[in-house]
Amino acid sequence: MTTAKDANGIDLDIKDAMEGYERFRLAFERDRAFYKSLATRQQTPRLLWIGCSDSRVVPSQITQADPGELFEVRNIANCVPPSWADDEAVGAAIAYALDHLGIDDIVICGHTGCGGLAALAEPMTPKCTSHLGRWMDYTRPAHRLVAAARVPEEERGLATVQAHVLFQVDNLMTYEAVAQGVAEGRVGIHGWLYVMETGEIQAYDRESGHWRDLLATAN
Ligand SMILES: [Zn+2]
Repeated sequence: MTTAKDANGIDLDIKDAMEGYERFRLAFERDRAFYKSLATRQQTPRLLWIGCSDSRVVPSQITQADPGELFEVRNIANCVPPSWADDEAVGAAIAYALDHLGIDDIVICGHTGCGGLAALAEPMTPKCTSHLGRWMDYTRPAHRLVAAARVPEEERGLATVQAHVLFQVDNLMTYEAVAQGVAEGRVGIHGWLYVMETGEIQAYDRESGHWRDLLATAN
């Protein structure tokens, strides 16, 4: 955050957004028919994307999706609280996606270098009484599993991110609409991991229990 201002007294961060908006308006005019069709029809997104709030991990960029294609839930560390947890945001999005939008594929996408997942591994962990501290509790199972498995230190970060994605896949199944959809073969759940350093997406392959490049799987 900065309070730096330009010569007209406009906050530089806001100015950046204003300039981007100006460019967007030009793009909107060029593609007016497309945007009009979005505005006049119900949305029909292809995927429910549950990802991290991290500003460097942009779902529509990674998948090259157009507006209207991804129904997104983003929160710190791409958490799916179990259905009985004290959180409504993720459960409401799941219900809306499945029951109202008819989405039949859910992607949980974690990423390397996730600050949310690193939080509990740091010496100064957030206070458990704070919003952040309570939210970080949803990452605890992955940390516990990796600690119990005695993963070598240099592999711990990646192993935690991967384990965390799989725990969120499990948590998705605590929602009746999801569990029923999966049981009937109507809904697919996909555990993915975006590798920020290389731009690759790894997908979890249930058959082999391994993570593979998305393009090498039938996930
Ligand atoms: Zn993250």
